Amino acid sequence: MNFRSTRGKSEEVTALGAVESGLANDGGLFVPVEFPKLQIENTDANIARVAEFLLPIFFSGEKIESEISKIAREAFNFPAPLRNVDKGLYLLELFHGPTAAFKDFGARFLAGLFQAAKKNAIVLVATSGDTGGAVAAAFNEKPGIDVFVLFPDGGVSPRQRHQLTCWGKNVHSFAVQGSFDDCQALVKRAFLEWKGKRTLTSANSISVGRLLPQMVYYASSSLAYFKEKKKEAHFIVPTGNLGNAVAGMWARKIGFPIGKITLACNANDVLPKYFSTGEWKPKATQRTLANAMDVGSPSNMERLLDLYANPRDFSSLIDAHLVDDEAIKKTIGEVYKKWGLVICPHTATAFDYVLKNKVTDGIVVSTAHAAKFEGTVEPIIGKKIELPESLKSIASKTEKFQTIPPDFSLLMSELKRSDS
Ligand SMILES: *Cc1c(COP(=O)(O)O)cnc(C)c1O
Repeated sequence: MNFRSTRGKSEEVTALGAVESGLANDGGLFVPVEFPKLQIENTDANIARVAEFLLPIFFSGEKIESEISKIAREAFNFPAPLRNVDKGLYLLELFHGPTAAFKDFGARFLAGLFQAAKKNAIVLVATSGDTGGAVAAAFNEKPGIDVFVLFPDGGVSPRQRHQLTCWGKNVHSFAVQGSFDDCQALVKRAFLEWKGKRTLTSANSISVGRLLPQMVYYASSSLAYFKEKKKEAHFIVPTGNLGNAVAGMWARKIGFPIGKITLACNANDVLPKYFSTGEWKPKATQRTLANAMDVGSPSNMERLLDLYANPRDFSSLIDAHLVDDEAIKKTIGEVYKKWGLVICPHTATAFDYVLKNKVTDGIVVSTAHAAKFEGTVEPIIGKKIELPESLKSIASKTEKFQTIPPDFSLLMSELKRSDS
């Protein structure tokens, strides 16, 4: 299946080609030229089954096609439970992977693809918190791959930082003295200017190799919901760079029973502002308690605008909700009191929408385990959160990282050192 650039000035590429290039030559993002229309009535809702059936479709006709089912099965080897919260309200738990955030799904599929394609590559990733950890875990000690992780110095929780910096020799971690946007700007420029021996490739949420697998949990949970409720599921998605939500929209596009997708945002209000006023004004990132959503200029907006030329005309399919830090804290407390659920600050943005709009039917997407943000959550609920097994097993590894200014030539010289 072919992919084209959102900016329309690059040649079409295959799915693997899109994964390998990261960004299109014209600076745009890759999107499928045509979305398949699937017959899904009799599909098994099991997540690994859905992954094995859905993902190969996008690689059809490529040499790697026959390996995609196996890569998908191995990437989706942990569950994504759909937990009933209250009446028609469900929680989709995406935090049962190795680094306890939804990023594990995409990162593990991407790493499997790279291995199958026998890539000798440098993976460069900017992270606002959880991406880098998931990517580092997925590529850790994989032969032929070096990983460079850039994260904002002081902008991630201590446990998140540990997950960014505790890996083997092939993972190089950098605390950048700046914001996530500074990290992302360095990465974008590196792709445009890279002329090395090894391929420099992305693992950010702009990567098709992460976006495609993220469709899988929307597909499987919406099928399960539909079997039970006989209606489309309204998803409420904690949103930053819009990679997770766009994957949901792609799943809807190919026929899964998905209704509205609500973008729950933190105080970085560029999306809610856009939906309320029509003005698109990317701005500097503001730090919040939901730090993995601290994005002032969501890259995947280009993909959303490519799907719907004017998303504001589709209010039955998409809306956005703004939640500040005070409301995040209040919601963590209320959700604990009301339902006994311990949620992370990101998931709280979605629950704030649920509480304020008295939502009784739908699926709240839970993007991370609360134990990653114990500094915020424990004082509110007044008890210790037990670490999930995955996090326990990496807790004893030591951190190693360098702190650097947001300086492009410095980053390039570090990359060059791994280029042999
Ligand atoms: C990355 C992340 C988000 C935001 O996802 P986007 O795809 O950037 O919109 C939300 N919550 C958590 C826990 C994350 O790690």
